[in-house]
Amino acid sequence: MRLQEARDMKDLNVSRRILMGPGPVDVDPRVLSAGALPMLSHLDPEFLKIMDDVVIAMREIFQTKNEFAAPVPGTGHAGMEASLVSLLEPGDTAVVAVHGVFGERMADIVERAGASLVRVDTEWGEPVDPKAVKKALDENPDAKLFAIVHGETSTGILQPMEEITDLMRGRDTLLVVDTVSSLGGVEVQVDKWGIDVSYAGSQKCLSAPPGMAPVTMNEKAVDIVRSRKTKVQSWYLDLSMLLGYWGKERFYHHTAPINTVYSLREALRLYLEEGREANFARYAKNGEALQAGLEAMGLRLPVPKDLRMPQLNVVEIPGGIEDKELRGALVRRYGIEIGGGLGKFAGRVWRIGLMGYSGKEENIILLLTALNSLFAESGVKFNKDAGVEAALEVLKD
Ligand SMILES: *Cc1c(COP(=O)(O)O)cnc(C)c1O
Repeated sequence: MRLQEARDMKDLNVSRRILMGPGPVDVDPRVLSAGALPMLSHLDPEFLKIMDDVVIAMREIFQTKNEFAAPVPGTGHAGMEASLVSLLEPGDTAVVAVHGVFGERMADIVERAGASLVRVDTEWGEPVDPKAVKKALDENPDAKLFAIVHGETSTGILQPMEEITDLMRGRDTLLVVDTVSSLGGVEVQVDKWGIDVSYAGSQKCLSAPPGMAPVTMNEKAVDIVRSRKTKVQSWYLDLSMLLGYWGKERFYHHTAPINTVYSLREALRLYLEEGREANFARYAKNGEALQAGLEAMGLRLPVPKDLRMPQLNVVEIPGGIEDKELRGALVRRYGIEIGGGLGKFAGRVWRIGLMGYSGKEENIILLLTALNSLFAESGVKFNKDAGVEAALEVLKD
């Protein structure tokens, strides 16, 4: 084996894909170009201004006045881990709603942080029952936090938050919400909903490259992190130090991933230029069109209509279709990637994303056309040619 010559341009090429899974997603060429800007040092005044831009944009998107709204280095899980390990000390109690893969992971982190875990388990594919949450919180009035996933990407369930946020009011227990797949695609109102801590990821609806996890914390949470009796066991993901770097002090903590921050800033600017409401409207319409197309073909969408995330659509794999074979053919012949099922749903469903720059009408039509031709070839029974027509019907007005 021999290292390829750097000057052979082929090694700077990768195939173009249309990423219609749960993330990462396609990125606007402008965002990619921003990532190729010259290197600045992490404390260069020009770079500090770019950091300011990111914070201002994140406040807008999280719909918060929180001082702290900044990306921690790492993907969505870094935001999850930073939030939980910075808040929890050994011996604390944490209540975690588990209704899919990501709730399960929060529960795992809570235990690793040495806290005692109270699980509120819900059948996969169902939303969390607020009554069960209330019971767990009433039984554990000293719980430090309650954590829940807003958009459970493994099941496609968008958790209704109103009853949850209502029952949290007046309690000392902090509300931690995973908005990795929901933020930017549907309403997330950190202040109005009384969310104390929330984290997201750069590569889902924000449509930036992976590698940054925006986190926001209110005063109450900041005070708790700052007045811990024990040190956070993770040095790198200690939010009190990240607060020093991304907050007013700009105290050196780590070298920010400079180019990833350039790209994130550009993606956030494009997002806000389109407008938050316009983004939500685009997602809602695209989701409706894709769902109409899939249903018209005769496919089953297991998530009830009022609990669907328009940016991540779960569909059952029809009998007679081999999961991996079909997804492989989609990539090979049409360049389209969709997501397979996770955990208990592996092999049973596909997860079709319309997040960020991937969420375009032409992608919906292309995907439905591709599925139509692949299903026809496989000989499976379905309503041939009905998908595109149904989607176009939704998209036309
Ligand atoms: C994607 C996702 C994560 C994890 O994000 P990574 O960027 O893969 O680390 C966490 N929670 C939810 C709900 C997600 O969809």
